[in-house]
Amino acid sequence: MVKDLYLEEWVSPHDWKSLEELEEHLTGRIPEHHLCVDCGVNTHPGAPTKKEVAEGTWEAWQAGETWTGVLHFGDDTEVYMVRESVWGKAGMEPYGGCLCIGCLERRLGRKLKLRDPR
Ligand SMILES: [Zn+2]
Repeated sequence: MVKDLYLEEWVSPHDWKSLEELEEHLTGRIPEHHLCVDCGVNTHPGAPTKKEVAEGTWEAWQAGETWTGVLHFGDDTEVYMVRESVWGKAGMEPYGGCLCIGCLERRLGRKLKLRDPR
């Protein structure tokens, strides 16, 4: 299943005083990068990093425009959310990076279960 997510909803409201303030707002909302911290596989090919979203948004605002970034989710996308307890058991901090599912399962020592995603 392919689904698009429009990023401008994540960067509103438009009252940021600086690029640094905007980047801080995006911390915990958009990953620094999408590479699995264990094996390096790109879990979300083509998706912008936090820095790219911030810079694109800031540059558009400076020009009096609205940046319209879109995240595409396709067959090569490995984006998911799990319960904080599961993430913690894998030794990960909240928004401490991305893990592909294989590496998450290896860290947990088991396959994911249906009740793990949140
Ligand atoms: Zn991995």
